[in-house]
Amino acid sequence: MIFTVAIDGPAAAGKGTISRAVAERFGFRYLDTGLLYRAVGVKGGDPVAAAQTLTAEDLARGDLRSLAAGQAASRVAAIPEVRAALVDFQRRFARAEGGAVLDGRDIGTVICPEAEVKLYVTASPEVRAHRRWLEVGGEEAKVLAEVQERDARDMGRADAPLKAAEDAAVIDTSDMAIEAAIDHACRIITARLAP
Ligand code: C5P
Repeated sequence: MIFTVAIDGPAAAGKGTISRAVAERFGFRYLDTGLLYRAVGVKGGDPVAAAQTLTAEDLARGDLRSLAAGQAASRVAAIPEVRAALVDFQRRFARAEGGAVLDGRDIGTVICPEAEVKLYVTASPEVRAHRRWLEVGGEEAKVLAEVQERDARDMGRADAPLKAAEDAAVIDTSDMAIEAAIDHACRIITARLAP
């Protein structure tokens, strides 16, 4: 069976948690596509060359989850040649036999417009910044500024900007427990699997 669940949305909206839970529930493979851009961002040197030669080792680095890696990722992610170098890998993952969940910014719009299920997971910038701050600590206002800066860059870029696909179901997790968001996502997928 070929079945793709595309989960897009801004930073710290809950995409990763929902994606992992959904993948486990349905036995699908999971790809966190943000890690690809983070690995390119922290590798240094020419980002296009880094994207073209990305290795499993690059993706296993321990520092990919940091705020700095997130900022570096969103800078290199605005370069069309970097995005182009990462398309094939993501498409193959999405359409391989067995079902796949991919989370990112452009999965439902660019990487896999034919995805069987498209979700756009979002929350207010303040709620997202608060969640990220609970993880990373430091000054909450600074984390909010970082979230807003990354949103502006991801939504404002010319190539594959962050936006909901027209046929995506929007899940706003601002006032929703994560379990409720996971249940909602699972109900949408179940309905599509067995209409
Ligand atoms: O999801 P995550 O926060 O790990 O993504 C880091 C950055 O990588 C995002 O801010 C975005 O600029 C970029 N990204 C992207 N397209 C994706 C996934 C991530 O442009 N599919």
